[in-house]
Parts: sequence; structure tokens; C-alpha cells
Amino acid sequence: MSALMEKSFRTSTADGAVVEFGLVRHALLAKLAQGTLRHEDVCDAHPELLRAAKNIGRATGETCPVCSDAELVEVTYVFGSRLPSGGTCPTSRAELLKLERREDPVQCYAVEVCVACSFHHLVRKWSAGGRQVRRAPLRQQRKVGE
Ligand SMILES: [Zn+2]
Repeated sequence: MSALMEKSFRTSTADGAVVEFGLVRHALLAKLAQGTLRHEDVCDAHPELLRAAKNIGRATGETCPVCSDAELVEVTYVFGSRLPSGGTCPTSRAELLKLERREDPVQCYAVEVCVACSFHHLVRKWSAGGRQVRRAPLRQQRKVGE
């Protein structure tokens, strides 16, 4: 169990902690096996997510644990101010890096998706950006209001 914990929750050496959700997924699949959860409960990926998975999903090399019919792909969503409210999906590592270096803080979520059965699961989340002192924009805003 402790080995599983270590594997599931690791802290990245880069900026900010990376939270891995391996344990959650493990519990999810166990419930599925027990019949406490139905396939419909976990295989309900949003059409937008499925489209992103088909277009820009990165291969994970792992077969879907639910249907075993397809390889899981990973899609990253980035949320932050002045980004689309539904988040934006970087299509390359370079694009992700650019988002991670924004002045404003961003929240990143990596989701694994199976395009065959619509299984989806949050793999990890991390925060980035926001390294600059953020007082300047606030002062500007106040000035506009005065
Ligand atoms: Zn599947």
C-alpha cells in the first residue's frame, strides 16, 4: 500500500507540486469490478473531450483498463485568466510550456481518455505561471476606476 501511495503521489522537482490521481483511479476501477459503479458512470467523456482526445491526445502506451479495446490518450487542459472559460488544450509541449510561463497563474489538468469507450479520468493536476509580482495590473485597474 505504501509503495502504491509513493507511486501515486509524487512531487515534481520543477515548480509547484504535481498531484497524481493514481489511487483515485485504482479505487474507481475496483468499484467498477465490484459493480458498485457502472460503465456508464465512468465512460461518459464529454464530446468536446473526445474530440480533443482524437485530435491532439498524446499516446500513453497504456491500454484502456475498462474496455481493453484502445490505447488511452492524454489531453491537457489549462485554465487561467484571459484563457477560454472551458480551458485551452495545448497541442504541443512547446505550447504547454508557453502557457506555464504566463504572468498569470494557470491550473493544468491532464486527463486520460479512451476514444473507444469514452472512459476518462483525471490523471494529475498542477499549477504554474504567476511568477511575476501581480501588483501592477491591480494598480492599473484602480486608476481606471478613479
Ligand atoms: Zn475504453
